[in-house]
Amino acid sequence: MFGKIMLAAALALVACDRDKESVQPEKAAATPAATVQAVTYPADTAPGPAADGDRAMQYVKEICKFGPRYLGSAGHKKVEDYIKSHLNGDEVEDDSFTADTPVGKFPVHNIIAKYPGTKDGIILIASHYDTNYPLRKTSFIGANDGGSSSGLLLELANQLRGKTRDGYSVWLVWDDAEEAMKPDGSGGLPNEMPFSEDSLYGITHLVEKWQADGTLKKVKALILADMIGDADLNVDRDTNSTPWLQDVVREAATRLGYQSHFFGRQMEVSDDHLPFLKRGVPSVDLIDFNYGYNDSYWHTTEDTVDKLSPRSLQIVGSVILETIRILDRMEPLPPK
Ligand SMILES: [Zn+2]
Repeated sequence: MFGKIMLAAALALVACDRDKESVQPEKAAATPAATVQAVTYPADTAPGPAADGDRAMQYVKEICKFGPRYLGSAGHKKVEDYIKSHLNGDEVEDDSFTADTPVGKFPVHNIIAKYPGTKDGIILIASHYDTNYPLRKTSFIGANDGGSSSGLLLELANQLRGKTRDGYSVWLVWDDAEEAMKPDGSGGLPNEMPFSEDSLYGITHLVEKWQADGTLKKVKALILADMIGDADLNVDRDTNSTPWLQDVVREAATRLGYQSHFFGRQMEVSDDHLPFLKRGVPSVDLIDFNYGYNDSYWHTTEDTVDKLSPRSLQIVGSVILETIRILDRMEPLPPK
C-alpha cells in the first residue's frame, strides 16, 4: 500500500458514515441489503475450499528473510527468483520494463502465472511484492505490506495447479513497483509529490499492455489482496471497489463462516485496482488498513512477521477461492 493521504481521507469517510448512521440509521441499513438482492448466487453444496495458512505463512517468512525488496535492491531480485522458482512447470508470463520514476530509472518485473479453465474469460488475483523505496535505508521488510499477499498467492498457486478448472481461467499476478518512490506528499516537504503521479508503475504497465493486445477485455474480475496477514484481521470495505463484486466476496465469506472479518469498516483506498477500474474491469481490493493501533505498524520497521497469523492468510485465501467458485457459476455476471 503506497499512500498515507488516503488514510486521512478514509478516516474522514468513516467519520462521515458514522454521522449519517446516527441521523438516519434505517437508511444506512437499507443500502447494502438492496445491493445484495440485485444478484442471485448459485447454490453450493460442495465443501468449501481451504487454503493452507501455515504453508502461506512459511512463504511469507521466506520472502521476508531476503530483506528489503525496494526497486533495484538485491532483495528484490532474490524475491523475483524465489517466486518464479515456485512456479516451475506453470505457464508464466514475464512483463518486464524500465520505469522512469522521479528518482531515476529502474527495472520492473511483473510475474503472471496462468491456470486455464474451461470457460471463456479470466479472473485475476493480484498482489504487489515490492517494498517502499523511501524506507530503503531502514530495515523495513513489509511483512504485511507486500509480503503477506505475495506469500498467499504462492499458496493459491498450489491450490490451482494440476487441477482441471471447470470455470474461468485464473491468473495470479505478482506485480511490481506499486509503492511510491518518493515520500507521499502528505508531509509538505519540498521533494514530495502526489502519490497519484508516483506509484502503481508495474500494474499500470501491465494493464496498458493487456489493453493493447486485447487481453483486458477477457478479464471478468480482479481480486486484489494487500495487507491481509494481520493477526487482527478486519478487511475493509473500499468504496472505490465494484459493489457487486464486494457482495460476492461477502457471500463467499459468509458461506465459510468468516463474515465477521470482512467489511466492518468502510474507507476509500487507492491501490493497484485503480487502473483496472478506470478501464471498466470489475475490481475489489481486499485490504485491512488498520494495522496496529491507529495503523501504527504501516510503513514502519514494526511491519514484521510476528504481527501476522497463518489463520488470517487461510481466511483470506479461502475466501478468494470461494469467490472464484461463485463467479464461475454466476450466469451472467452483472454488468460492469
Ligand atoms: Zn506500502
